[in-house]
Amino acid sequence: MPKFVRYRGVRLNQRTIDMIEAAEWVCGLTFVLTQGSYNPGGVQGSAGTHDGGGAVDISLKDARTGMLFPRVRRERIRNATRQVGFASWVRDPSQANWPWHTHAIAIGDRELSPAARDQVTAYKNGRNGLASNGRDDGPRTWVNVTWEKWEKAHPNWREPFTAAQYAKLMQEIKTQGAATRQEIRRQAIWMLRYSAQTVDERAAADRAFDDAIAAGQSLEQAIAAATAVLSPINAALLKAAKENG
Ligand SMILES: [Zn+2]
Repeated sequence: MPKFVRYRGVRLNQRTIDMIEAAEWVCGLTFVLTQGSYNPGGVQGSAGTHDGGGAVDISLKDARTGMLFPRVRRERIRNATRQVGFASWVRDPSQANWPWHTHAIAIGDRELSPAARDQVTAYKNGRNGLASNGRDDGPRTWVNVTWEKWEKAHPNWREPFTAAQYAKLMQEIKTQGAATRQEIRRQAIWMLRYSAQTVDERAAADRAFDDAIAAGQSLEQAIAAATAVLSPINAALLKAAKENG
């Protein structure tokens, strides 16, 4: 019997949940999951790839505004899932009757459906995993990564960051060319929220940032608005954010 739990509204096994959370850690974003695993016949367009374990779809739209994420963010989400051992692709509405999403299959999951297993093979072979069997349109950097390898290389990933670890992460992202300067700054804000003391403070800082952006203010102004509502701010993080601006 497959072992899955209900997680953020979908069915997933624990290995896949760990991988999702690690990918979020890698890219500094919180994902919205639109389809999980163990979902036979649930979504016709998925062609059986979500019937077993290890499959997840991640929304590429802002949950609040419905706006499509900019390309750099769509690709950052895909890349983060690849980094921790998913075979994954950005899917768009021109390919099939589905909304923009990242479709991700956990490489090495013991309960992959046959269709999902085929997609892992397609990924390894540089294909897009669709019936069209087109070329993979993403970076090939992490094709040989598995979750077990990634976790071994990042044993402390669940612990809160120190400022130094955070600076290192930002540097990694920059080196990969996976983020623009603006994205790096947004990342810094996420970290400031992450290290805030209370959930309320984090939510308030998040709102202040989003409201400032919605009001047409600059990123600097939005960062200032968000930091203004946080109490104890880690000065090193602010400095890192500035240096990456
Ligand atoms: Zn999918």
